[in-house]
Amino acid sequence: MNDFPIIQKPPYRSPCNRCGECCKAGPCDLATDFLQADDGELCPALEVESDGRFSCGLFKRPIHYINPQLAAEAETINGWTDFTAKVAEVLGFGQGCSMEDEPRVLSCKIPEWA
Ligand code: SF4
Ligand code: SF4
Repeated sequence: MNDFPIIQKPPYRSPCNRCGECCKAGPCDLATDFLQADDGELCPALEVESDGRFSCGLFKRPIHYINPQLAAEAETINGWTDFTAKVAEVLGFGQGCSMEDEPRVLSCKIPEWA
């Protein structure tokens, strides 16, 4: 059992507070594509921090999560710096909360990578 505070999701497009509700609702397209996460399971890259907020491990440390074959492909196409920059772009970092309030939908789409 932990003592993490419950962090409420802010309104759609308000600054992201890393409550993790979007990721807890289901894996995003990146998790499906790169981590083979299935609908209904918790994304394997969702990381909880010591303050109870959540982070995307695919962004923070992709090498830890991505499978070697896809890693080689991503590295060949873009390199890791470009990969993490693309993850940030797809997830809409800096654009506020990406999860609509009702119904709760995570709006992230995978672009062409090459
Ligand atoms: S944003 Fe990151 S942690 Fe959240 S579901 Fe997608 S890959 Fe997983
Ligand atoms: S995008 Fe919204 S739901 Fe997802 S962690 Fe940020 S504030 Fe929470």
